[in-house]
Amino acid sequence: MRKALVAGNWKMNGDTDFINELVNSLVNSSAASVNADVLLCPPAVYLAQVSSLTAESAIQLGAQNVSEQANGAFTGEISLAMLQDLGCEYVILGHSERRSLYGENDQLVAEKFVAAVAAGVKPILCVGETLEEREQGETMQVVARQLNAVIEAAGIDKFADAVIAYEPVWAIGTGKTATPEQAQEVHAEIRQILAQNSVEIADKLRILYGGSVNAANAAELFANEDVDGGLVGGASLKANDFIAICQAAGA
Ligand code: PEP
Repeated sequence: MRKALVAGNWKMNGDTDFINELVNSLVNSSAASVNADVLLCPPAVYLAQVSSLTAESAIQLGAQNVSEQANGAFTGEISLAMLQDLGCEYVILGHSERRSLYGENDQLVAEKFVAAVAAGVKPILCVGETLEEREQGETMQVVARQLNAVIEAAGIDKFADAVIAYEPVWAIGTGKTATPEQAQEVHAEIRQILAQNSVEIADKLRILYGGSVNAANAAELFANEDVDGGLVGGASLKANDFIAICQAAGA
């Protein structure tokens, strides 16, 4: 039985006061005690603040991105050792915004994945198709390419503690959510690709759905056999909505 995971991806939002209020609300709510793992991924400059606010709670900490390099002359980059120093257990990799706006390709995402696993930080590997790709019937080709690039570079054993997030690009921040059937169909195929490499890892690995998850649609998405929680953007910035999503995952 896989324990559900709900990860809040705040993207480039928030400031010190907003974060104090939001995280205190979550820590003092049922989100901190649901039967699911709850993870907050703030902008990197606020990781220390969130780390100290969540220190006494079960809420975990993750980053939105990381360098594939260990250290050195890489102006503006953040290393895995720095994330660990601040208590990060997870890092989101290959988010569609990183792929489309910052030119991250499958190879770079795979390098980051390998580096994260080697450092002991759990990767949340994002995969997903654009609207055009879906309309052309290429959804599984795209998702398989993104996933296989990492499996080939890292080896399936490195997926033991990893998480995959299926995030159809057309559903991210658009208010358009994949139907539970659409999500389940892709999640099952992702698990099938993993199973071709290792049945044990495929059974254990959590596959999150991301794309306009909200308090109203979370329960029916999470009810699917292969949907093991959510990667939540916009709704993770609203305490009550995020709490409701965490409750749906823990139900
Ligand atoms: C995301 O940031 O990964 C995401 C899914 O955003 P939203 O929930 O706002 O669509």
